[in-house]
Amino acid sequence: MAARPTPYLDELNPAQREAVERLDGPVLMLAGAGTGKTKALTARIAHLINTGRARPDEILAVTFTNKAAREMKNRVGGYLGHGGDSMRWMGTFHAICVKLLRRYAELVGLKSNFSILDTDDVKRLLRQLIEAAGLDRKRWPERELANVIDAWKNRAWTPETLPSGEASAFNGMGAAIYKQYQQRLRELNACDFGDLLMHMVTIFQKHDDVLAQYHRWFRYVLVDEYQDTNVAQYLWLRLLAQGHKNICCVGDDDQSIYGWRGAEVGNILKFEKDFPGAHVVRLEQNYRSTPHILAAASAVIAGNENRLGKELWTERKDGEKVRLMGHWDGDEEARWIGEEIEANQRGTRGAGPRSLEDMAILVRASHQMRAFEDRFLSIGLPYRVIGGPRFYERMEIRDAMAYFRVVTQPDDDLAFERIVNTPKRGVGDKALQNIQVCARQNSVSLLEATRLLLGAGEIKGKGKGELTKLMDSFDRWRGLAQPGRVSQVVEDQDDDLFEDFSEPETTTQVSHIELAEAILDESGYTAMWQKDKTPEAPGRLENLKELVKALESFENLQGFLEHVALIMENDSAESEEKLTIMTLHAAKGLEYPVVFLPGWEEGLFPSQRSMDESGVKGLEEERRLAYVGITRAEELCYITFAGNRRVYGQWQSQLPGRFIDELPELHVEVLSSAEAGMGRSAGFGGFDDFGGRSTVSAMQKRAMDADGWDTPGYKRMQARQAAGPRTAVTPKRKRANMMVDGDAQE
Ligand code: ATP
Ligand code: MG
Repeated sequence: MAARPTPYLDELNPAQREAVERLDGPVLMLAGAGTGKTKALTARIAHLINTGRARPDEILAVTFTNKAAREMKNRVGGYLGHGGDSMRWMGTFHAICVKLLRRYAELVGLKSNFSILDTDDVKRLLRQLIEAAGLDRKRWPERELANVIDAWKNRAWTPETLPSGEASAFNGMGAAIYKQYQQRLRELNACDFGDLLMHMVTIFQKHDDVLAQYHRWFRYVLVDEYQDTNVAQYLWLRLLAQGHKNICCVGDDDQSIYGWRGAEVGNILKFEKDFPGAHVVRLEQNYRSTPHILAAASAVIAGNENRLGKELWTERKDGEKVRLMGHWDGDEEARWIGEEIEANQRGTRGAGPRSLEDMAILVRASHQMRAFEDRFLSIGLPYRVIGGPRFYERMEIRDAMAYFRVVTQPDDDLAFERIVNTPKRGVGDKALQNIQVCARQNSVSLLEATRLLLGAGEIKGKGKGELTKLMDSFDRWRGLAQPGRVSQVVEDQDDDLFEDFSEPETTTQVSHIELAEAILDESGYTAMWQKDKTPEAPGRLENLKELVKALESFENLQGFLEHVALIMENDSAESEEKLTIMTLHAAKGLEYPVVFLPGWEEGLFPSQRSMDESGVKGLEEERRLAYVGITRAEELCYITFAGNRRVYGQWQSQLPGRFIDELPELHVEVLSSAEAGMGRSAGFGGFDDFGGRSTVSAMQKRAMDADGWDTPGYKRMQARQAAGPRTAVTPKRKRANMMVDGDAQE
């Protein structure tokens, strides 16, 4: 038999090839940024399929973002000469767990059409429980409890397995409310994000037969970005990999940036212990960045004590130095970056004209995005935001989706509550309370309770007619949605043993797009905004149209809602040529020819909150984030900072961040705005030596001097420099930093 072509192998270096060709048993690829870990992982999948070791759907491949999964599918598809769509088990932990959980929902007390709640819903639910527990919400805010519970779920602790050491959490009420919360979720037939994994871990632990089935099924398990797995994800993987022990993990301890969310870098460090006989591959050649960029990244990460320590090298020559630029304030920074982007587009920054697709702005905190969005909107520069406040978080979109949710899932009380009186239907607080009481007493959903109360004549006035109409509408919409939904469930429960390409037996009477339009019209929701005279109303109507348009790429409403729930957590897909703005956290694994890293200021980056909460550990994680940021750049890397910044309406004067201090001067070019505008380099006149890290570094000073600085922050910094070591953070700055939601990727 003639050997099949293996084009993917020819593109690899010997170390990568070794990792790809050793198909059986545990393999760990532990290597620095841009060394081709993801590339090798992708080639390995192609090789598994090509050599007949596994069929595409017998491979479980976990990536960090939906975008990464899409890219990997495309690449594997490209290598093999057919579409990657047969890779049914390639996706994020969450996306894969949703699929699994739909099949086994009843094992954890849910139905297979469960809803996935977003953080807003979660908080609303917790607020009710906190109030019912008699706690003062001001002192015990739901956001805090949401974090506590999320942290527990990240460790796969259910209310039953919660260690006694956690008993004091949330004023001693945490454990009890957690239990009630899980109970409520079951009643609502809903899950939060943490549940998706935790429930699957529970199911695998308690149901040997289910686990055994997947042991048989998943012959090969592959994981990218392994350094950022949390305990629940780790347990889930370990349970699944016990079958064939064919697990291949790749990662980089220097890029572990999700510690604040429960990720354990220890998972990657103990891989060899967990999987005895593991073959470890190390890669050192970087293929992504110029030598200057690589040197800058290496110098910054060298500041961390707790690391394995890896040397990276590149064959690439020349390239531009990292560009450093100080600004008066955040708006000025945004303006300048906008100009640099346009200069890159025109091709006046070397290397010829560049597409917007080749450029990205990576911010530490999502509030930084506003200045850029405003600027780019005003100059008409197309951009997309990944990981910030997004389309699907807008009020009208959430309202519309709440209608869709009630149609697909009548037990979804949170969605029902959101829209029962939107538009106004004469349902006051009192009426809503009655509905809630009735629902509790009869253990039924709010929708069902409304129906009962209407039947018993207990809802009067305007509400009576309006609600009766709404109930009838829901019946009708559900009737229209039903056939499609049924066929979806049947497909979802298919045992995967063979692919079913047959036509569904029933077809929908109207498409889900027509249905969505009907829902928005007949409910009076569209009319509500048409009548609204506020300046935002036209924009909201536009957004509703956009929403209906978005439905086109889905088969039904449920598929769409699931998709939205998942991208709310992660990233989004678009095709038009645009500049990308996203958080550093969301940029993991990605690469761009031109990268802008704004806001390198003390308190913003490194973030004060992470340093306050986690001390040196927090600072080291921030430094890894800086390393991730710089190593995203292939050709050009800009680092900027501002002397003044408006944070939620308050002006703050800022000090340049300490990581600027750690940049190696040989590989950095300090720009001034006039010179940058003319495309000339500022050049160093040598560095003054200001001594230790607690003072302004020569590098920072040069960057500011170059732009003729005279800001309050600079003056204060000079005073501080004269006064000696770094002083404590002022209460004002601390407050501001508390407000800065540094951990932008919710
Ligand atoms: P990160 O740690 O940032 O996730 P990575 O180790 O996963 O990085 P990849 O994204 O796989 O690195 O590869 C970085 C870049 O180098 C990609 O553009 C990839 O195509 C290229 N590359 C990787 N290996 C090779 C190789 N052997 N020859 C040429 N180019 C390569
Ligand atoms: Mg990668």
